[in-house]
Amino acid sequence: SADQPHQNLAIIGHVDHGKSTLVGRLLYETGSIPEHVIEQHREEAEEKGKGGFEFAYVMDNLAEERERGVTIDIAHQEFSTDDYDFTIVDTPGHRDFVKNMITGASQADHAVLVVAADDGVAPQTQEHVFLARTLGIEELIVAVNKMDVVEYEESTYDEVVEEVTQLLGQVQFNTEDASFIPVSAFEGDNVSEASDNTGWYDGDVLLEALNGLPEPEPPTDAPLRLPIQDVYTISGIGTVPVGRIETGVMNTGDSVSFQPSDVGGEVKTIEMHHEEVPEAGPGDNVGFNVRGIGKDDIRRGDVVGPADDPPTVVDTFQAQIVVMQHPSVITAGYTPVFHAHTAQVAGTIESIDRKIDPSSGEVADDEPDYIQSGDAAVVTIRPQKPLSLEPSSDIPELGSFAIRDMGQTIAAGKVLEIDERE
Ligand code: GDP
Repeated sequence: SADQPHQNLAIIGHVDHGKSTLVGRLLYETGSIPEHVIEQHREEAEEKGKGGFEFAYVMDNLAEERERGVTIDIAHQEFSTDDYDFTIVDTPGHRDFVKNMITGASQADHAVLVVAADDGVAPQTQEHVFLARTLGIEELIVAVNKMDVVEYEESTYDEVVEEVTQLLGQVQFNTEDASFIPVSAFEGDNVSEASDNTGWYDGDVLLEALNGLPEPEPPTDAPLRLPIQDVYTISGIGTVPVGRIETGVMNTGDSVSFQPSDVGGEVKTIEMHHEEVPEAGPGDNVGFNVRGIGKDDIRRGDVVGPADDPPTVVDTFQAQIVVMQHPSVITAGYTPVFHAHTAQVAGTIESIDRKIDPSSGEVADDEPDYIQSGDAAVVTIRPQKPLSLEPSSDIPELGSFAIRDMGQTIAAGKVLEIDERE
């Protein structure tokens, strides 16, 4: 309902372990598929003499949209528990999933890790857990899926739990902040109701575990940071930059600064959902107008902040990165594209300062010659054009980025320290 706190949920895990099926199951069990849609397919299925049609419909629909390459409108992937309204922040299987997760287009509060009982920890299980850790996801619900395939064997479940627990330990995930649930997304075991097939399990079912997640912490005392997505010219108003407020509050009358374009002025009007508002806060998508700012003065990738606490523009920055996939090795001088908030800027890895052992967090190697897939490292980066970023410890929303090259997300990172541009 409208007054419940909101949670952004990521569904992560290895391909084919059942992420889409689990999303479909969650939507179905919570009644989030419109009744008329279900009714229509019920009739169709009856005509064709098919059983089990309702859930199958959800899955067919998701699969079909994926095949057409459509990014399913994430606004439609919503469901509610007693205490929260959940939005699935990205479409499982969507190829930009990892990038979106990092650049904040879809920053998740919590995540469900799907691990197929018949396969256990697989490469992407590892990669996504690593990523979740880097991005500061605090609580993980581990759905040990496809329990039907392993005949609901407790011993198989225990083995997978043990394997995942080890993985979490390696990336220093607090295992007390992870809960494990044996489920079958396909059959519906332990999703909304305790299953008779797993009499040996007496913990929460998935929807209970989701409902028991801690409330996401609202970004509170951080200053205004609003990355610009687009800049429009609207007759009668003038230049209208639009974007989503990541942190802080914007009021009409505020004096603001656009960085790195380095222009500023007074906020005249703020519009949200086609209505003028005096104030907007974190999560609000706004269009606004600033006295004296023309369309060519600002651009996508600029960040708006208070004139007396403007967004930081970096000369170089030090970051911790995790290399997720790279066909060969990364050495100093490598110049891929950095995606941070709404900005995309080429940047050179000037130095690889140290390699980190993910199991201990300790320095494994000082100034290594190269890093490769699976490595975590601290590197120094020089953007080729001005870029606004913040240390992740100050403003996490503006402190993470994805590194892309050859149409792939190569690495994820968070900003440790910034050497400011004069
Ligand atoms: P994703 O790549 O992680 O999104 O995986 P999908 O949801 O597409 O599932 C991959 C395959 O596993 C599909 O054929 C699903 O029908 C099947 N699957 C998913 N969950 C279950 C389950 O709980 N039990 C069984 N038997 N099959 C499942």
